[in-house]
Amino acid sequence: MDKIIIIGGGVIGLSTGWQLLRKGFDVEIIERGEAGKSAGWASAGMLAPEAELGFEEIELFRLCKKSFDLYPEFIEELEEDSGIHVHIDKSGSLMVGLDRDDNERLRRIYVFREEVKMPVTWLTGSEARELEPLLSPKCSGAIWIAEDAQVDNREMLNALKIAIINKGGKITEYTKVDSVIIENNKIKGVNTEKGIVYGDGAIVSAGAWSKQINGIPEELKPPVRPVKGQIISLKMDENYKLQHMVRAPDVYILPKHDGRIILGASSEEMGFDINPTAGEIYKLLERGWEAMPSIYDLPIISIDVGLRPGSRDHEPIIGGCGIDGLFFATGHFRHGILLTPVTAYELSGQISTGIESKTLENFQLSRFFKEQKI
Ligand SMILES: Cc1cc2nc3c(=O)[nH]c(=O)nc-3n(C[C@H](O)[C@H](O)[C@H](O)COP(=O)(O)OP(=O)(O)OC[C@H]3O[C@@H](n4cnc5c(N)ncnc54)[C@H](O)[C@@H]3O)c2cc1C
Repeated sequence: MDKIIIIGGGVIGLSTGWQLLRKGFDVEIIERGEAGKSAGWASAGMLAPEAELGFEEIELFRLCKKSFDLYPEFIEELEEDSGIHVHIDKSGSLMVGLDRDDNERLRRIYVFREEVKMPVTWLTGSEARELEPLLSPKCSGAIWIAEDAQVDNREMLNALKIAIINKGGKITEYTKVDSVIIENNKIKGVNTEKGIVYGDGAIVSAGAWSKQINGIPEELKPPVRPVKGQIISLKMDENYKLQHMVRAPDVYILPKHDGRIILGASSEEMGFDINPTAGEIYKLLERGWEAMPSIYDLPIISIDVGLRPGSRDHEPIIGGCGIDGLFFATGHFRHGILLTPVTAYELSGQISTGIESKTLENFQLSRFFKEQKI
């Protein structure tokens, strides 16, 4: 397999394409808008496998943890190929409770994490405020997860585009892929609005739009839908120096190294609508203000909206599908930035060796067919 076409130039398509280039493939990424400006751009960039996941998601937690552990190597290679420094901040995250109900919920999470041997520390309200003095006096308890980190997702996306070009790849922007061309159960190329592009393989990494690519047999279309996320960037000032990522009930607040404070994020089933709305922004600001009252005076820089690709079970779909040369890398939902290294390394490895990745075995499209047979 020589030429691979990547459908969609988001963080998943770009990173997988770049890793395939490193393995000697000819790669063309076809993006209907500007590459790197979709959900990954709107994202908060949190790398928080331990703060993010719940009780039933052990397999997904393992995948997230593996990806988290791959981040240093991934960023080192990316900096080498792009010449761009990508900031990673490893200052940990605090999950805070503001009343008794919140604390009960945090206690359950704390006990669960201890049971499965995830690092976690319980803090009283005043211990949490010592760590993060801007927290509200109402903060009555917290969980401290020292390992959590964040990446500058926008720097990473810019670096990926440059690395791809430096490695001899092609990024074709403002070109929508209409359909894949399959002959005798094998990929031959794709039809775009500007003509046919021939290739021996195609990866569908079109995020929330992955189900809309024509030519894929109906039963193999990935069950992915858009889950809208609105997020606010505020401007940090002299009196407001947030040190760590903070997760309060229904909101997270995090400092970015470029002087922004991120307040996120809504989670809405609104189809492909990408309009910011007063109600969701009001809710985010109110919840943020309850956890950290001093955000009140901070200037608003921007409101961004992204569509998370959510699969039916909210877990990613990464791998082949029985059609020679057709692969999926989609459905990364809330964890796409965190899952970028494991997706790019494992899928490019599978394509280059022809051996199915053990790491990805629970994240195949085929799990949905099994579900239907029951
Ligand atoms: C508000 C918000 C906050 C988030 N915070 C975090 C976080 O802190 N940590 C984390 O790990 N994850 C986070 N996420 C999730 C993460 O951003 C996504 O999982 C990830 O960006 C998905 O990447 P993707 O490449 O699959 O999709 P996208 O980034 O959406 O890229 C898909 C690309 O495909 C293109 N495309 C679609 N159809 C076609 C077509 N027919 N032809 C050509 N191109 C096409 C689109 O234009 C788009 O550029 C957040 C998401 C949101 C919205």
